[in-house]
Amino acid sequence: MHPTRRACLRSAAAMAAAAAVPWLGGCENFGPGDLPGSVAYRPKGVRGTSLREGVVRLEIGTAVVTAVRDGFVTMPLDDGFVPGVPLIQVRQALTEAGLSDASVTIPFNAFVVDRQGRRVLLDAGNGRFGPPGTGQLASRLQEVDIDPASIDAVLITHFHPDHINGLRNPDGTPTFPNATIHVPKPEWDWWMDDARMRSAPAAMRGAFESTRRVFAPIAADVRRFEPGESIDGIESIPAFGHTPGHTGFGFEERGHRFAYLGDLANLPALFLRHPHWAVRFDMDAETARRARRRLLDEALAKSWIVAGAHWPNAAIGRITRREDGYAFSPLAA
Ligand SMILES: [Zn+2]
Repeated sequence: MHPTRRACLRSAAAMAAAAAVPWLGGCENFGPGDLPGSVAYRPKGVRGTSLREGVVRLEIGTAVVTAVRDGFVTMPLDDGFVPGVPLIQVRQALTEAGLSDASVTIPFNAFVVDRQGRRVLLDAGNGRFGPPGTGQLASRLQEVDIDPASIDAVLITHFHPDHINGLRNPDGTPTFPNATIHVPKPEWDWWMDDARMRSAPAAMRGAFESTRRVFAPIAADVRRFEPGESIDGIESIPAFGHTPGHTGFGFEERGHRFAYLGDLANLPALFLRHPHWAVRFDMDAETARRARRRLLDEALAKSWIVAGAHWPNAAIGRITRREDGYAFSPLAA
């Protein structure tokens, strides 16, 4: 069991101890939204290290996965966050997980995979276009000596702004100048349809505009893949529903399977614990529910090492069974 965040912040000794043995419960992994009382685990043959605040590195066979936190946002909890579920039940689920029931704190994460001589970034964060407290991906990469120019490819799960805005700077220059950008074809086809943009509700206007700011000037260079295809040795995993072409990514190394599941499940305390609930950002809630059950059942049965775009702690861990749903058992916390 790791110490609570409050205890961490109180105790300089705890911080020193955590720095010495980072994988065993480093305070540097804590931040708003972390899971009090969660139990870290150390799978055989998999080694991880907390490099600094918001950056955890994990070795899986010959692959190295670096989880990088782009930031957090805290929003007041209202009854629209989980449509169709009474607010009191949502509050209860947050309380059960040891979290505040007045607001929700959503982490944003991206992942760098070094494997087979290639360096691949999975999702690109908010860049300079997100809410305050986000947009730290590029600086955190620099801090751990990952030069944005060393990224060979960026694989995008879906076109929501918090996943694509970090691809380009406000002046239009690419954040990852040498990277080929790969996107799911169904995602491209849906968002880049001008007629659909024109008829979209006002609330979706910003998301459509982001896709054009990011992709329109480089459209000829963006590779569109069919979900299920492999890219740079990384398999893409269809997980539609959150958006029309939402896609995860995974690979296998020495019997360990890693899968980055993007927005398959938003906050674990709500959407792993109650997988039939759908966050308001799920564009097709029913399809998203089916994808969630299918992939989480597989992750559970096969002990995948899974990662989530909006999961707390190091954002990498295992899925465990919890009553009629699941829980997130973070790898480092
Ligand atoms: Zn997202």
